[in-house]
Amino acid sequence: EKLLALYQKDADLIPLYRRVIEDTSREPERLRRNSKRLFKKYARSLKGEEADELEFLASQLVSLKAAFLSQHIVEVCVEIAAKLKKKTPQVVQDSIGDRENERNDEGEQATSVDDINCGDLFREFVASSIAFNTFRTEMANLALPKPSRTTKKVVVDKKDVMEYVQTKTAVIAGRILHILKESLVATGYLEPPLKPRMVRLRWECRCGERFTADAREYEAGGASELTASAEALIGSRVTATLHSTNSSNQKLILPQPRLWLQRVFARLATTFKRPPSPSTLPQHNPNTTVTHAPQEPPLQPPKLLHLLACMRSAQLGKSLHQASIAAIDTDRNLFRLLRDQFRSHRGRFCTLLSLKKVHGISFVKFNLFAGGSVEVRHHSPCCESACECIPPRARVEPSHRAEYRCSPAGPLRGGPPVLPDILAHFFARPACIPEHNVSILNRLPKRICGELQGSAAEPAEGWGIYYQEGWDGDIIAMVVFVMFLVVSLLFGVLWACLEMDVQGAFGVSAYIMTAS
Ligand SMILES: [Zn+2]
Ligand SMILES: [Zn+2]
Repeated sequence: EKLLALYQKDADLIPLYRRVIEDTSREPERLRRNSKRLFKKYARSLKGEEADELEFLASQLVSLKAAFLSQHIVEVCVEIAAKLKKKTPQVVQDSIGDRENERNDEGEQATSVDDINCGDLFREFVASSIAFNTFRTEMANLALPKPSRTTKKVVVDKKDVMEYVQTKTAVIAGRILHILKESLVATGYLEPPLKPRMVRLRWECRCGERFTADAREYEAGGASELTASAEALIGSRVTATLHSTNSSNQKLILPQPRLWLQRVFARLATTFKRPPSPSTLPQHNPNTTVTHAPQEPPLQPPKLLHLLACMRSAQLGKSLHQASIAAIDTDRNLFRLLRDQFRSHRGRFCTLLSLKKVHGISFVKFNLFAGGSVEVRHHSPCCESACECIPPRARVEPSHRAEYRCSPAGPLRGGPPVLPDILAHFFARPACIPEHNVSILNRLPKRICGELQGSAAEPAEGWGIYYQEGWDGDIIAMVVFVMFLVVSLLFGVLWACLEMDVQGAFGVSAYIMTAS
């Protein structure tokens, strides 16, 4: 009993017991088991510190009475916890004090039944040992409201984990969507995002093909000017969409198999068609040089008009080709001339075999160097504050320093002057141009003072067109399709011959074709 009183009166242990009482979630049986375990451990530690027989007996006593001590502590806790429901906290504290006093009294009365005579030495050993300090610490760990604290921590952790998982999932989903979008844009099945200060124009050609092109509006009203000029060129309605921060203005471009086949056959027909005889073509005289005269005699022949076209070149990077277009009177004839000019420079079959095609034809400003190489000043990114892809008014008729003929003259409020996609489509299919249309011919900068010559001192500045070339998706798709067709047919024939199973063989062939 004295031993029990020692643990019940300890100043450090009393607050811990109170905590246990206040913690209603603690199960008494579990508390008893844990405190018994602590007393046993405490007794083992005491053994390590014993120095004489009395101390040995003390450690033995604690070990033997571990169950008894833990049982009494739990009883005290349970009894007072029951009162807690009925009494105020102050009363509960008093109860602990009363109980301690009672136990103390009982301890005094039970002195005669002590297993050993506990003197000051005994108490000092049991209460001042290192093991007792360890016991206090472990009892504190036991008494602290660990379960509730752990539960709270777990809840917080779970919340954090959920947020982390949600964030990660959103990031991964965003990346997958981004990659998917990029792939669709790269393969031409999705429009690219519309950049700031740009206007997206969409239209459908008379052949049924749908187009999307972006233009830049430098001044207010530039977009409507562009739309009006595009409508005049195409002969159908053009819709303009302005840039918005809320939307990327991207639309899916659905495949059009019928138009794909038409494009492929048109391309093959152009390749295998014999070029027209020189007598039927508008004449191009590379040696012609006409200098501009301020006061032209009225009886002189009309000025030779030259179209300056920049093209990719294996030797020079980009080279300039100058052709006389004096005899050209309509846009259709202009594009027929351009097609013949391009084919004659590239070669009929080389163009097809290279799997490349003209993706766009741009109006450009360029610099011609003495060696014949050309530096093209592309509309994007060179035209920053205004579009300079057509010559300025000072160098266009009727200026006395005119070198070019075109209408309108630069700089423009919106650009480019004509969308490259429109020109590329007309280049591929001149039949889509309204028959007597001369809009493009009028806008095209035509040099009126002979061919442009580069000088050694400084490059010559010029205006003309540039052929943008890229992979021909239509022909590549056709090549892949034909390859799969041949392979599947070959497989079917071989399988039928070797296995004598015609139905199975062509079933597999059909599967290969469907997969392709
Ligand atoms: Zn068309
Ligand atoms: Zn421009």
